[in-house]
Amino acid sequence: MAHLLLLSSPLSISLCFFAWLQGFVVVHGNTNLTHSSFTPINRNLYHSSGDLMEEIKALVFRHPDRLTFDTIKSRNKGYSAEIAVVTYCRRRQETDDRPKFRILLSFGQHGRELITSELALRILSILSKEQFLPNLDPASLDHTLDKLLIKMVPMENINGRRIVEAGDLCERRNGRGVDLNRNWSVDWGKKEKDYDPYEENPGTAPFSEPETQIMRKVAMSFDPHIWVNIHSGMEALFMPYDHKNTTPDGVSSHQMKSLLEELNHLHCQRRCMIGSGGGSVGYLAHGTATDYMFDIVRVPMAFTFEIYGDGAASSRDCFKMFNPTDFGTFNRVLNEWSAAFFTIFKLGPNQLGENYSKTSVPTLDKWVSIDEYLDGYLVERSSRYGKKMEVLELGMQEIRTYFRLFLLSSVLLLFMFCSRISKGKCARPIVSAIAL
Ligand SMILES: [Zn+2]
Repeated sequence: MAHLLLLSSPLSISLCFFAWLQGFVVVHGNTNLTHSSFTPINRNLYHSSGDLMEEIKALVFRHPDRLTFDTIKSRNKGYSAEIAVVTYCRRRQETDDRPKFRILLSFGQHGRELITSELALRILSILSKEQFLPNLDPASLDHTLDKLLIKMVPMENINGRRIVEAGDLCERRNGRGVDLNRNWSVDWGKKEKDYDPYEENPGTAPFSEPETQIMRKVAMSFDPHIWVNIHSGMEALFMPYDHKNTTPDGVSSHQMKSLLEELNHLHCQRRCMIGSGGGSVGYLAHGTATDYMFDIVRVPMAFTFEIYGDGAASSRDCFKMFNPTDFGTFNRVLNEWSAAFFTIFKLGPNQLGENYSKTSVPTLDKWVSIDEYLDGYLVERSSRYGKKMEVLELGMQEIRTYFRLFLLSSVLLLFMFCSRISKGKCARPIVSAIAL
């Protein structure tokens, strides 16, 4: 009774109002807290995608003697993509590029892994001698780089990256929701029990995505000795396979493993996980770029590197989970991993032995299928800073394909012609011989 009286009094109404107000402040305050617990992109450390590409273009423009820049475009069902490829070749005017040791590196295949594209810029700055690595003798570096032809894709998934920059910090897929590291043809489309379409959508078919089509063409025409797909989310050095829990048999498997062990020792303080992607990461991945590079393009050393991960970050705090957020860690990661790539540049050719030239590989398994050849017409190439060698190479490739088609049809025609003659001329004497 006393309680009822109290509740109905003006004092109790005021108390209730204050209690409600307090509740409102707490709820509102919690919302703010939750919102601010997602780390935003640190714009003091990271370039925007536009600024990063402009910086790379300017770098290439300042070093035309060793760097070239190409943009390759492709389009499929109303969705278009373009990929920039930077080629490094010291003294490129003086020598033919065929005998060189070819390395293909791709960064930023997943939109949210911003740190990887920053690493691409750092490596290019060191290659053009605008930045330097400690403990690296310039003369021995020049000697190493003379042997190499390096192609780098600084930002494979620029459409996905733009979605991340617009605020969806957890997006890893391309501009229309396909995971570019599940869209390749080796074991494509197989789904594990924990399959999450938000993370791993493989697309409607292998190579349904323009980005993957472009990358396949770059890899097929360049025919690299080393491929590295650079990611973040953990610290690891992976080799094939991603789609099964084993590493390949044979010599190149040992060569890959020993190079990874050396890198782990020199640059990762043995922290990095090593082994097959499928066997080490805790899940199998189907339709990945590295499995395709190893199995189909026959790249003797095909890797996936994971250069940084914050395992303690909340799984919804994606920027923090995949990218360093403070200046010290940001620089440490870039220094350690750029040094790791220069170790690959040095050790890679030795590891494969002096007879690394893949030109001796029979050309039969390098024949471009009709499908791929026609597909080539969908790709638009534009050259920005002097690119005569490659245009010539592409032209020669087309001429070679025409020549093969011509040879094949000539052989068929000759065969048909001969079989008609033999029916017409040779048949009669045989019949008469039997009659005799
Ligand atoms: Zn990734």
